[in-house]
Amino acid sequence: MRYISTRGEAPALGFEDVLLTGLATDGGLYVPESLPHFSVEEIRSWRGLPYAELAYKVMYPFVEDAIPADDFRKMLGETYSVFSHQAVAPLVQLDTNEWVMELFRGPTLAFKDFALQLLGRLLDYVLEKRKQHVVIMGATSGDTGSAAIEGCRRCEHVDIFILHPHQRVSEVQRRQMTTVQGDNIHNIAVKGNFDDCQRMVKESFGNQSFLGGKTQLAAVNSINWARIMAQIVYYFQASLALGGPDRSMAFSVPTGNFGDIFAGYLAKKMGLPISQLVIATNCNDILHRFMSGNKYEQHQLEHTLSPSMDIMVSSNFERLLFDLHGRDGAAVKDLLERAAKGPVSIEDYRWKHARKLFDSDAVDDKATCDTIRDIYEQNEYLLDPHTAIGVRAARNCRRDSAVPMITLGTAHPAKFPDAIAESGLVVKPQLPAHMADLFEREERYTVLDNSVSEVQGFIAKHWKNA
Ligand SMILES: *Cc1c(COP(=O)(O)O)cnc(C)c1O
Repeated sequence: MRYISTRGEAPALGFEDVLLTGLATDGGLYVPESLPHFSVEEIRSWRGLPYAELAYKVMYPFVEDAIPADDFRKMLGETYSVFSHQAVAPLVQLDTNEWVMELFRGPTLAFKDFALQLLGRLLDYVLEKRKQHVVIMGATSGDTGSAAIEGCRRCEHVDIFILHPHQRVSEVQRRQMTTVQGDNIHNIAVKGNFDDCQRMVKESFGNQSFLGGKTQLAAVNSINWARIMAQIVYYFQASLALGGPDRSMAFSVPTGNFGDIFAGYLAKKMGLPISQLVIATNCNDILHRFMSGNKYEQHQLEHTLSPSMDIMVSSNFERLLFDLHGRDGAAVKDLLERAAKGPVSIEDYRWKHARKLFDSDAVDDKATCDTIRDIYEQNEYLLDPHTAIGVRAARNCRRDSAVPMITLGTAHPAKFPDAIAESGLVVKPQLPAHMADLFEREERYTVLDNSVSEVQGFIAKHWKNA
């Protein structure tokens, strides 16, 4: 399998290089040159497979040039055995033909564990083979940082530096990052906001001379193709559990950077019958505005009760735009260069095609809280605010009540106790047993000024072989 850039100018790469690269050299994102396609008979034959075995069937075509089958199987067995539910991604029924898929049974209680637990193992495998070392540098507003640290803590060939905005992440989120012990784990609290952190990461990827040529940076955010790949699997899992592929399914996906729902779009292209994909956003709703009015325009960032979806632009949307433009990299490059300066639209027939592929809805904080309260009162089931947005959008956009509607449950409610309190419920979400002592664990992090040279100096001094 070869991977090509959405902006058409960077060289095509194999899986190993795509794994170790962030952005393509032309500023684009890597996508597979072609997708594997599975027949209905083949998908049907996967019924009843354990999650890790299904993951092997779905993902192997993407990695087969780089990893022997037995090694990949072993890696997947290890990856999904750390989840705290035998089904890995269990389904919970909300109403007749309406479901939540719980993707928060991993070590850090958000769906990002599905990809980052695998990414850590993939990196170590490839780096061991190549006798190479990388420094992971990432910025987080919450969930990505802890999942990346948890996924890479045992990697021998990786040092990981995660930047978070000092005093601007929730205490649960901070402790999930800073209480993980390991010589290769470094938490940096930057005296600035999330955008400052992200800017420093971007600048460092652009010029890595501060590392003195002795190692290189690798990316853990969802521009990394391997993360999208791992998220395709659970769409197949949910469908097979509810009678697919002999009936089609609808999915509603709480969306920020468009990574998770893009994986659903790929599952459909790979042969899984999916009749509806709902983009559910909070009031940072650039995607909903585009889907409703063909205008792609950045607005000011708003802070909401669903912080993991607080974004101004969705980086993975570029991967969809590439397909909408018939995979014409030059057209995508032109469009996104214009989009950086002001509002843009695409040709009407392309936009109409996008509307056939996706429905969308934007859900504000009040409707989020109402949904948390309603579902608790109806079912005694607690939703986290991100999942609540998905459930609300699913109900608003549903087209056919005979088709199972599955909302992706992206986080555990105990990660976001403030939203639960704000919804007026007196019940307090409990952390699962394996994290019950989170507030007693020792924390380790370094506070640095909002200065890229200070951050780069810290990294240059503290990676393993520095
Ligand atoms: C990251 C995240 C999202 C958004 O996912 P994208 O792939 O960026 O669209 C939604 N909910 C939670 C809890 C998250 O951590």
